[in-house]
Parts: sequence; C-alpha cells; structure tokens
Amino acid sequence: MLTTTDALERILAKTPQLATSEVALDAGLGRFLAQPMQAHLSLPRFDQSSMDGYAIAGKNCGSSGDRSRLQVISEVAAGSEATVAVGDGQAVRVFTGAPVPPGTAAVIMQEDVTAHPDGTVTLDTPAEPGEFIRRAGADVCAGQRIAEVGQRITPSLLAVLATQGWANVTVGGIPKVGILSTGDELVPLGAPLPSSACIYNSNGPMLKALVVSSGSECVRVEHCRDDLATLSDCLRDLSDQCDVVIVSGGVSVGDHDHVRPAMLAAGYEMDFWRVRMKPGKPLAFGVDPTGCRLAFGLPGNPVSAFVTFWLFVFPSLRRMMGATGTDLSLPVVSVSASAEIHNKGDRAHWFRGRITGAHFEPLGLQESHALFSLSKANALVCVEPECSVAAGTSVDAYLLPWQ
Ligand code: AMP
Ligand code: MG
Repeated sequence: MLTTTDALERILAKTPQLATSEVALDAGLGRFLAQPMQAHLSLPRFDQSSMDGYAIAGKNCGSSGDRSRLQVISEVAAGSEATVAVGDGQAVRVFTGAPVPPGTAAVIMQEDVTAHPDGTVTLDTPAEPGEFIRRAGADVCAGQRIAEVGQRITPSLLAVLATQGWANVTVGGIPKVGILSTGDELVPLGAPLPSSACIYNSNGPMLKALVVSSGSECVRVEHCRDDLATLSDCLRDLSDQCDVVIVSGGVSVGDHDHVRPAMLAAGYEMDFWRVRMKPGKPLAFGVDPTGCRLAFGLPGNPVSAFVTFWLFVFPSLRRMMGATGTDLSLPVVSVSASAEIHNKGDRAHWFRGRITGAHFEPLGLQESHALFSLSKANALVCVEPECSVAAGTSVDAYLLPWQ
C-alpha cells in the first residue's frame, strides 16, 4: 500500500498543467503567473517628497530660526512636473508624491516650518540632508525581476504588477471539476428523508465548497445510486465536461462499491486505489489515456473525503493551475502538541484539531464519520504509525485556509 507521500508524488507526476491564458489583472487574483515579470518602471519612478512641506537646498539644511529665512519661489503638487530648481535661500512648496525640484537636498515637513505673510518661511528645526525624499528605484529598479512563473497573484502582488501599468497578465488555467456522490442511502438537501436508513448527502456540498474555495470551477454536482451501469454512464458524462471528476463513496471493496469498475468502464486507467493512511485508506486515482483528465475516488466517510481532498486533490488542482513549491499544499507551521497524541494503528493518522497560540490540540471524536469536530478544527497533524507525540513536542500542522 502506498504512503501519503508516494501517492501524492504519483498524482502530481500524472497531473497535466492546463493551457495558460491572458486575463485582466483583477481577474488574475488567486491565479498563478505563467510568465516571469520584469519591471520596466522603477519604484518610486522619480525622486519625490514623502511629506507635505518645503523642498530646500543643501546650504539651508542645518539652520533654523531667523537665520533660516527662505523665499518660497514655486509650488509642486502630486502629478505636476518640477521645472523650477531650488537654490540657496529659496524653498519650493511640495506635497506628498510630488517630484522634488532640481537642487533639492531635503524636504522639511510643514509642521516644522513657520510661514510668513511676505511669502517667506523660517525653519523651526534644522533639516537633515536627504530627509523626506523617496529616492527613485529605492523599492524596485527598472529591469528587476519582480515575479516568478508559478507565483500566486495575491492582492499585494497584484498591486505591484499594477504599478507597471499592466492591464493584463498571463496565468494558468482554472480546472473544471465535476462532483459525483454515490450511495443508495443519500437524499438531496431539502427533500424529506424517505426512511430511517437514509441520510442527507453532505459530501456533495462539502466537496463543491472545497473545490470552489481552492480556486477551481465546479461545473456539476451529481448523485448516483450504487449501480455499476448508472455510475459508469454518469462518470463518462461528467468526464466529457471536466478536467477532474471527484467521486465520493463506493470506492472500497464492499458488494455495493462500484466506483473502481465504473472508472475503468468510463475509460480511466487505475493508478492506485489504496493509501496507508487514516482517515481515508480507500482512495482511487485514475487517469484517462490522453493524460488530460483525472478521476479521484474519495472515501464516502465525510472526514476521510475532506482530508483526502486536501492531501491529494488540492495539490493536483493547484498543479493544473500552474502552482509550484509550497503553493501545492496547505501551509505548514510548526507548533507544539498541547497533550500527548497517540497513534496505535499501522497507518499514518491525520488528526484534526485546533491551533490556539502556538499549541495544537486534537478535537473531539477522531473517527472518519465525525464531522462535527472537523467543523471546529483549523489544522491537521499527521502522527506516524505506532508513534506517540509527547505533550510539548513540536509538530507540523497543516493549516486549513479559512481559519
Ligand atoms: P462508502 O465509502 O460508500 O462505503 O461510505 C462510507 C460511509 O460514508 C457510509 O456511512 C456512508 O453512508 C457515508 N457517506 C457516503 N457518501 C456520503 C455522502 N455523500 N454524504 C454523507 N455521507 C456519506
Ligand atoms: Mg456507499
């Protein structure tokens, strides 16, 4: 049976990257750059004032009071060009973001100046050369690489790209995902429960929410009874419209588990179908012969479906989108276990729990059907088979993104 790491490696090795496209910069938020970006403008673009105040020459730095009387010769607001140079005995009124005039050694802020009715100013405190001037190129120099292929467009990177005037960016594609819940016991939300043995389909809405919150497009959400022919047809139909199909339930070895044969009937080649982990041992991964489409058969137990989504499906969706490195998985932080965590089993156990401050505490029932404790969790921690993590020991916690 594969380990989590080996299974993920196999999935990523078979995950295709989607075609890239050029989109409006604001539509690129959350997507991954498909080309490196090189600044053509420096930041700041020009030497500019960082205060509302007065630009003065070098000879007038260092003095104050009556000995510092300067004639105000012109004014430069943000957006105006500074055409008049400032000389000895002179000051130019400047505002935040305005270019400083030629000859400027410092800007003195208006709070440190006394303005007189005759058009002169005196400095209340001496100015230091260089102060309140933002130098051209101090942040970014023209020609500098400012973003890499595979980098995620966050609001702050988006702002940096905007400083360059780029209205469009080339980014990786958005996976089209179909979701298929299987099970004779499942009832759609809003409908009455027909018998005491039925339950509502919670995996369908959960998986849709996970797909959408990961930046992919959920094109269809279907439910199928535990019947091989119907399941195969439904899977084939979804595969025609999707880059990825996520099936939940029916993936194990029970008499009513038809997902693996249905995947084969729908034309997928089965790469593996079990992983040595808990929750989530049955996990089928199939690739269609063109290599363009993937199918994941996740366990029906809701927590297993949730955990295997984050560990296997999410990285694959991210790779399709053009992500690299740490963007392929949930962010990991090192925290200390607040109590002993024991894994008696022979499979790696992913514990759900809560990080408060620098401590991780497992939460509630750790079984694969126990959704309620999962709803309170903000992190997952893996404990290797037959291992214990002592209280106070450092553990790697995978942060769930919305907590
Ligand atoms: P299975 O993997 O089909 O054997 O299902 C394992 C467990 O998960 C069973 O208790 C199912 O009733 C439950 N289950 C399967 N699919 C869903 C679903 N879509 N929503 C809620 N529970 C489910
Ligand atoms: Mg089932």
